[in-house]
This record gives sequence, structure tokens and C-alpha cells, in this order.
Amino acid sequence: MQKREIYVIESDKLVRTRRFCPRCGPGVFLAEHGDRLTCGRCHYSETKKVTSKPASKEPEKAAQKSKA
Ligand SMILES: [Zn+2]
Repeated sequence: MQKREIYVIESDKLVRTRRFCPRCGPGVFLAEHGDRLTCGRCHYSETKKVTSKPASKEPEKAAQKSKA
């Protein structure tokens, strides 16, 4: 029996680092700016998922909209 090594290209890892803009669609990447991702095309902004997030005391009941 010959054991073949099959290399599987996991595209998910690429997506994890480079995300596409949900507005512009595939092809337009989001640029990283600190802890957020922004699109230079439609100015879409998205906050990164912080894993080392401290436990929040108060649950977020109401959505906080910083945009005026
Ligand atoms: Zn965009």
C-alpha cells in the first residue's frame, strides 16, 4: 500500500486573515486598521472579534450606535 500525502488547501485560513467587503462583495478586501476592518471602496467598517475580551458586567441590551 502506498501512502499518498494529500495537501488540502484550506481557503478558510485565508479568509480569516483577509476578509472581503460584504458590500462590495468578493474581490474587495478589507484593510486592517488596528482593531477594525475598513473598506477603502465603500468606507465600510467592521470591528474585529476580540478574543481577549474582558467579561462584560452589563449585558448589551440596547444596540449602541456611535454613528450620528
Ligand atoms: Zn466595500
